[in-house]
Amino acid sequence: VVAGGGVVGAACAYYLSRRGLDVILIERAGIAAGSSSATQSVVGYGLTGDAQHLDLQIAAMAAYDDLVERGLEFGFVREGAIVVPDGPEEETPLRACLDDRNARGLRCAWVGGDDVRALEPAVAPSVVGAAYLPEVGHVSPMRLAVELVRAAHRHGARIWCETTLEAVELASGNTFEAARTSRGRVAAHWLVLATGCWSRSVGMLAGLRVPVWPRKGHVLVIEPVRRLLSRPVVDFGYGRHPSIAPSISEDGPAAGPAEVFGVVQPLPTGQTLVGGSRQFAGSDRSVDPTVVPRIAERAIRMIPALASLGVIRMYTGFRPWTPDGLPMVGPTSQADGIVFATGHGGDGITESVVTGRIVADLLLGTDPPLDAAPLTPDRFRMTERTRGPLDVRRSR
Ligand SMILES: Cc1cc2nc3c(=O)[nH]c(=O)nc-3n(C[C@H](O)[C@H](O)[C@H](O)COP(=O)(O)OP(=O)(O)OC[C@H]3O[C@@H](n4cnc5c(N)ncnc54)[C@H](O)[C@@H]3O)c2cc1C
Repeated sequence: VVAGGGVVGAACAYYLSRRGLDVILIERAGIAAGSSSATQSVVGYGLTGDAQHLDLQIAAMAAYDDLVERGLEFGFVREGAIVVPDGPEEETPLRACLDDRNARGLRCAWVGGDDVRALEPAVAPSVVGAAYLPEVGHVSPMRLAVELVRAAHRHGARIWCETTLEAVELASGNTFEAARTSRGRVAAHWLVLATGCWSRSVGMLAGLRVPVWPRKGHVLVIEPVRRLLSRPVVDFGYGRHPSIAPSISEDGPAAGPAEVFGVVQPLPTGQTLVGGSRQFAGSDRSVDPTVVPRIAERAIRMIPALASLGVIRMYTGFRPWTPDGLPMVGPTSQADGIVFATGHGGDGITESVVTGRIVADLLLGTDPPLDAAPLTPDRFRMTERTRGPLDVRRSR
């Protein structure tokens, strides 16, 4: 049983059914009803994340290529991305990051202002140079989820939408036996939790305190125009603030003010998505009128033509955040048969496909495309209530 029909659950259902397992995907609402439809969707790698995260993102991009070669259609465009420093003081650290990524075999490079505008004429004249990341792409996450679910269905998976995982039956206290759903009881070998920001409450059904909390983001949808951008243009600062909190309480990270960055992404419809913010604000979905102008201001500094275009819609979404910034992928020794595929934070669109592949490899005993040990859910102790700070076993 795979619980959760976002991009991650869809990828798990696809790879598990492709490998011959009998899969039921259960989704409380519809496919991509959660974070996977309230997001942006750059598929790529960060310039400042640590080696483990970079390994995962490189494997993630290869997994996308594999899906495309297999003929799955989900609007994947690989035209690169431009990362813009916010002022001259960011140029040196940005160039250093490029050297580091080149050393890992990635083809990113510094380009001067004229070359930036040859790629993207809408970039502000004040931008005297930026990083060009040709391997980065973008995708339609809803199409991705639906296409993966369709392909899983062709491989025999049953897709149960509007079906909620309501309880988890454990034999001898910690061995998964059956999922009780709003459609009835399903006995299975494994229960894959791909429930994104709901993983904490869903984990409690199995007696596990899953350390995943929602990290809110705002997105503005700009009216369609014939051609504004061909590829995402992203603030260097967005990737420079890694999602790491050394110590947090049982109740999760304390609420705080929004950090604001410019992440401008073209859509095939001619619309443009303008993000973004990052904030711990509980599960409050409302659009904060004080955050929106700050996002717009940063984006307009990068792409001045945005100033004359209208915002047709605004939404917020939530990144399923873990305390060390890495997702939780694979089985846990803390409950036999419970398998995690959650906590992908701001990288879940990128890492969804490879997560499905890793889960299938780990369950079927074949080699995953990378060392999955850093992703193990067992780096968190989930079974005992503790007082004080959450016990993060492997601090990064
Ligand atoms: C503003 C913003 C910008 C982002 N930009 C990017 C980006 O550019 N690139 C990138 O890679 N990532 C990006 N992300 C991150 C990405 O959107 C998420 O990491 C990803 O969507 C998480 O997918 P998921 O499948 O884990 O979760 P979800 O899509 O939330 O899926 C979980 C599903 O579980 C279901 N569910 C919950 N409880 C139950 C239950 N009891 N029974 C059955 N089903 C249940 C929900 O209905 C939901 O559909 C961004 C996120 C935000 C908010």
